[in-house]
Amino acid sequence: MTCKACSGSWPLKDHKIVDLNLTVAYLHEDQFFPGWTVLVLKRHATELFHLTREERSQLVEEMTEVAQTLTVVFDAVKVNYELLGNQLPHIHWHIIPRLADDPAPLQPVWTVQHQPSRLAKEKREERVALMVKHLNGERSAP
Ligand SMILES: [Zn+2]
Repeated sequence: MTCKACSGSWPLKDHKIVDLNLTVAYLHEDQFFPGWTVLVLKRHATELFHLTREERSQLVEEMTEVAQTLTVVFDAVKVNYELLGNQLPHIHWHIIPRLADDPAPLQPVWTVQHQPSRLAKEKREERVALMVKHLNGERSAP
């Protein structure tokens, strides 16, 4: 009944990167793929067709801003965008930079068996700060 995203139990609050207009970006707990970010819609909705046209286009703008930031900060060769919602039916995009040394460049991340990589607090904060710095730069640019 309670949606984990709406109740605030996921994503982890101390993984927050930035609060945008319609969404909040968080660093994913598993950083096996460095920079893996989740972009969570602030209001509850489960499907894109539940959004207004304006919300959908704003959502794409916010995804784009985050994806561009990930590309610069992590030197990504490609970005994956995944909207699944099977486990948590509340619109949230997984935005995953894929790097040059990616262990499985042709596969979606879900199929890549790995031990989740949880960063120590300092390392996580450092990663978040790099993104915030770039996002602020982007938005203050003319
Ligand atoms: Zn929800």
